[in-house]
Amino acid sequence: MNTGEKALIFELSKPGRIAYSLPACDVPEAEAASCIPASMIRQVPARLPEVYEVDVIRHYTELSRRNFGVDNGFYPLGSCTMKYNPKINEDTARLSGFAHIHPYQPVTSIQGALELLYTLQNDLAVLTGMDQVSLQPAAGAHGEWTGLMMIRAYHESRGENRSKVIVPDSSHGTNPASATTAGFETITIQSDAGGMVDLDALRAAVGSDTAALMLTNPNTLGLFEEHILEIAQIVHEAGGLLYYDGANSNAIMGITRPGDMGFDVVHMNLHKTMSTPHGGGGPGAGPVGVKSKLIPYLPKPIAALRSDGTYYFDDDRPESIGRVKPFYGNFGILVRAYTYIRTYGPEGLRQVSECAVLNANYMMHRLSSHYDIPYPGVCKHEFVMSGRGLKAYGVRTLDVAKRLLDFGYHPPTIYFPLNVEESMMIEPTETESKETLDRFIDTMIQIAEEARTTPELVTGAPYGTVVRRLDETNAARKPVLNCSCGI
Ligand SMILES: *Cc1c(COP(=O)(O)O)cnc(C)c1O
Repeated sequence: MNTGEKALIFELSKPGRIAYSLPACDVPEAEAASCIPASMIRQVPARLPEVYEVDVIRHYTELSRRNFGVDNGFYPLGSCTMKYNPKINEDTARLSGFAHIHPYQPVTSIQGALELLYTLQNDLAVLTGMDQVSLQPAAGAHGEWTGLMMIRAYHESRGENRSKVIVPDSSHGTNPASATTAGFETITIQSDAGGMVDLDALRAAVGSDTAALMLTNPNTLGLFEEHILEIAQIVHEAGGLLYYDGANSNAIMGITRPGDMGFDVVHMNLHKTMSTPHGGGGPGAGPVGVKSKLIPYLPKPIAALRSDGTYYFDDDRPESIGRVKPFYGNFGILVRAYTYIRTYGPEGLRQVSECAVLNANYMMHRLSSHYDIPYPGVCKHEFVMSGRGLKAYGVRTLDVAKRLLDFGYHPPTIYFPLNVEESMMIEPTETESKETLDRFIDTMIQIAEEARTTPELVTGAPYGTVVRRLDETNAARKPVLNCSCGI
């Protein structure tokens, strides 16, 4: 089908063509052999494309237009909080005083940056109900691992050998992965019929070997664990700690706090909740917060304030698990999060969460007569639907996701959580207008109708993309990224 789209030509190279013009060299050329070890000197010139500047610009601009981002359109990818990132965050992160400092500068010359780190630590502690925060971890999974290493240090300091971490079957895949990486054994417990932690299963699972329970609340079904205080009591009475996966804090800001629910350790994903552009692998920031009994184990150093009003890096922390990231975390992301918190303020952050929850409930309600909602009722910032009703027409959730591409939407998260058949996990976020939500809902209704009347239209989608159905496993595991792949 000729969609009228210009084909992307990859091979633009012409021998001798260059994209620069430099004045003649007016200093003696250094002899390569005198400054580069012999084993590292190239024997043959690098095989680089020979192109001129216009070709380079057009090539990369064209490629960038094939990428889908929040700035192109609606992106309801559940559990990922793909919300609009205010551009003022980018402005502050690029301020010369932040962007051009070096981590080896004397602390007297970076007092402003230290003040920002110190204030952000405190802001996040207040927001999560924790006593102290480290900004070092570079992602959510990294925060989880850091938290679990602290939990390990805590139990060891008490002479206890606790080797098991409990996770519910709806948990995010990083939870058992982090627990394993931190040297624990993972125990998975089934959710109950309402999609919540099964209290009896939890009681049966805890014991003298329980190191921690890892939980997301609201959980990955978008539901708030109503028995969270009882859950905390069961785990604490067994001598375990509670870990809060706060990657998605978009539903709770200013409304409730993990610290008040009984959690001992939490990480937040600043690149989700605090609106850093994300996707494509980073950079991110996954600060961890802890209750006072775990403060000694926090990664070091921590930004601290002296009584004379000057800031410093507190390195004198003998029980710390050590450094988990070079320097002090992904500083630029922390500047964005600081800006986000300051521009919204406490009332604004609460409003963010209220609107995120309202948008999700509005969408779930309008879609409920067209798709299966396995756990109806009130959801939080996201909800899970099932495409199982379309199977009778030979249409699966994957087909619905592919068909959405033809309408210019990024599909929702599919086939996660694992405990819902043919699942679609939709997170509209607070930054979308009612008109956008309605357009998406109408499209989803239209696709459900197509599935019933012309299923082959849905199973054959997408029609308007550069490539159609990919071998997604191989595309992720063995990507062909060089310029001779010839798509
Ligand atoms: C995104 C996410 C994570 C992992 O965060 P990364 O920054 O990708 O490592 C963990 N838990 C939940 C619930 C998430 O949504």
